[in-house]
Amino acid sequence: MGRGGTMVGDTFGDRLTRYVSASVRTRHIPSQPPEVPDGLIEAILTAVNSEEAPFKTHLSRVRVEWLLPNADCLGNTAFEMSHHELEARKRQRLPPGPVTIGLHPILVEDEQLYVHTLAHELLHAAGLMDHNQRHATLLNEIAPSPKLSESPLLQEIRSQALAQQEVQEWNCSHCGFTWDRETVRAPSRCPKCARPFK
Ligand SMILES: [Zn+2]
Ligand SMILES: [Zn+2]
Repeated sequence: MGRGGTMVGDTFGDRLTRYVSASVRTRHIPSQPPEVPDGLIEAILTAVNSEEAPFKTHLSRVRVEWLLPNADCLGNTAFEMSHHELEARKRQRLPPGPVTIGLHPILVEDEQLYVHTLAHELLHAAGLMDHNQRHATLLNEIAPSPKLSESPLLQEIRSQALAQQEVQEWNCSHCGFTWDRETVRAPSRCPKCARPFK
């Protein structure tokens, strides 16, 4: 069975963190596995109730490892059970099976972003699967993100994301057709509807 429940960490919105690895800067995987800071799991256990986070009592068994430097997200949480099985286990108050959190090695450059990303994933691991307002509120209480202005790493991720968005694809304003960008200049016509591109 594959990792049916993999979730992409979208700490600042999916669009930004999808492009974490867009730059080809080589980064190394630290020789030590990622550490869970003292008190982080306790803070989560205090903040969530078992209704919303039915897997909370299993949090300390979650494995945390580094993602490869070419991973395209800052963090993810992988369950080995399918979404369907997980929902059944929540209802029955059964453990979720093996859970692995992956963190991008780029995070060693920014401790606050590291803790923020790890807390984001631990909330998923506890059973708060969705990126809803509750997940966001808890995360902000437990481990807020650094401000963009205070985090060179966030600034770098953001500029990579913007650059990627600019070069990734064209979108026709007439018919909505989207296609991969392969040219530097804007095309003169939409390849689908053939109207002048704008
Ligand atoms: Zn997430
Ligand atoms: Zn078109």
